Amino acid sequence: MRILIVEDDSSIAALLVDYLHARGHEVDWAASAPRALALLDESEFEALILDRGLPRMEGLRFLRLLREEMQLHMPVLVLTARDSESDKLEGFDAGADDYVVKPFSLAEVEARLLALLRRSGNRGENKMLRCGKLCFDTSRYELTLDGQVLSAGPKTLQLLEILMRESGRVFTHEQLEMALWKESQGNSDKLRQVLYQARKLVDTPGSRCSITTVHGRGYRLDITP
Ligand code: CA
Repeated sequence: MRILIVEDDSSIAALLVDYLHARGHEVDWAASAPRALALLDESEFEALILDRGLPRMEGLRFLRLLREEMQLHMPVLVLTARDSESDKLEGFDAGADDYVVKPFSLAEVEARLLALLRRSGNRGENKMLRCGKLCFDTSRYELTLDGQVLSAGPKTLQLLEILMRESGRVFTHEQLEMALWKESQGNSDKLRQVLYQARKLVDTPGSRCSITTVHGRGYRLDITP
């Protein structure tokens, strides 16, 4: 397994790196959130071990950034010095999959990581796409907002799936037509009608997500504050 450890305490990081490396995993270490972002940009990781108490950007704030802005769905195990229920809930709310409390056993860290990876493997790659409060379950082909299933036509769902897979990216009118109908639709209004239906579903105050028209270029899905 390829693991990124984000931990500012170099002695704890060294213990984890040595142990996981000896267990046959590929391990990288970042001492801060900015360094972790650079490593995530350079290479692919299957799991993240994240310390809550980081300098410059607190661990859970960093985790929210990964989940909400960067749409990273890899399993994240949080290391925390605190063991209260509210701390755990805060961690899960920020997007943690599991946590261990310091001081922890190295074997437990590995066992928990492997369990997370098994679960995410069973869920399938990229099964859950998220944008704001909107969630697209690609295996059930179902769109939900705050857990409520939204009903939509097949082309509307297909369009939202494309936009949600890469939220923030601008897709041109032609790219979307090709994706939905496998051919350009000429002067037809078909895509505009599908966009209209998609906007009716998505552009609500509670979704924290909206479809933006980028003048002269195309359309993209944005997370709204
Ligand atoms: Ca720390």
